[in-house]
Amino acid sequence: MTEGFKATAEVGSPKRTKDIIAKYGFTFKKSLGQNFLIDQNILNKIVSAAELDETKGALEIGPGIGALTQRLAQTAGRVTAVEIDNRLIPILKDVLSDTPNVHVEHGDVLKLDLPGLMEKQFAGLSGVSVVANLPYYVTTPILMKLLEEKLPLEHIVVMIQKEVAQRMAAKPGGKEYGSLSVAVQYYCQPELVCIVPHTVFIPQPNVDSAVIKLSLRDKPAVEVEDEAFFFRTVQACFAQRRKTIANNLTAYVGKPNRELLGPLLEGIGIDPSRRGETLSLAEFASLSHALLKAGLPA
Ligand code: SAM
Repeated sequence: MTEGFKATAEVGSPKRTKDIIAKYGFTFKKSLGQNFLIDQNILNKIVSAAELDETKGALEIGPGIGALTQRLAQTAGRVTAVEIDNRLIPILKDVLSDTPNVHVEHGDVLKLDLPGLMEKQFAGLSGVSVVANLPYYVTTPILMKLLEEKLPLEHIVVMIQKEVAQRMAAKPGGKEYGSLSVAVQYYCQPELVCIVPHTVFIPQPNVDSAVIKLSLRDKPAVEVEDEAFFFRTVQACFAQRRKTIANNLTAYVGKPNRELLGPLLEGIGIDPSRRGETLSLAEFASLSHALLKAGLPA
């Protein structure tokens, strides 16, 4: 059934991708973020950033027709690939029929029991990383699920929209720094691996992409008493980017408590006229600690 494309071209090459698509009469679903990568150099960069070897596992989200999956299978001990589109399952089974160390899981990654899946698929391996060319319409929910569920991961190496990658890696002081930067950097050390032009995908998306590597920290970057409260405080400081933290926090703690904010901020060495985008993770942590101690918001 598969011999035609198997013999024709290198994994991940434009020719092979087009051959597979033609052979199965596959039609792309924009609603599922289906943009397949057709650049072998980028595939190699993604795989090598993940620092895999035969003792490690790779969890891929959205394998598509399996180009990255095949590359991962050559490097990692075991690969589990989660694909939502049932039309791709028989194609993947066929394309990956010679790769016994790959398991394809049909499902929506946002609904799957990932800890259970990881335990079943990666038992005995020395570490697991997520490696994926993510569907852009759900990038942030997927990454936040991986981080908030505190999955035992070493790295998350993903292709995402360039602007989102830049926001994740942004340092305080610029317009790209926001609550997403704080959330990602709380759990991980981010590194931009490379910028990827939109021309290396079939079909081409409207925007450029980037590969970002998130290395999971042994413990969060800052110590906080209550994580949910910390993240609510961060969100509140960025509620209206042009406003000062004193003004944004007024909406958070309620107008009657407004006069408490000045002394509270000055007490922890933060000028109330600063904007959220200038605060470091350590400053957000001490702000959330001070608000919690003061019983705010009441
Ligand atoms: N890995 C392939 C590549 O690099 O060419 C395809 C990447 S494509 C950007 C994203 C893939 O994610 C598609 O195969 C799509 O069907 C799949 N996908 C979309 N939403 C998903 C979800 N919620 N759970 C699992 N897979 C999903």
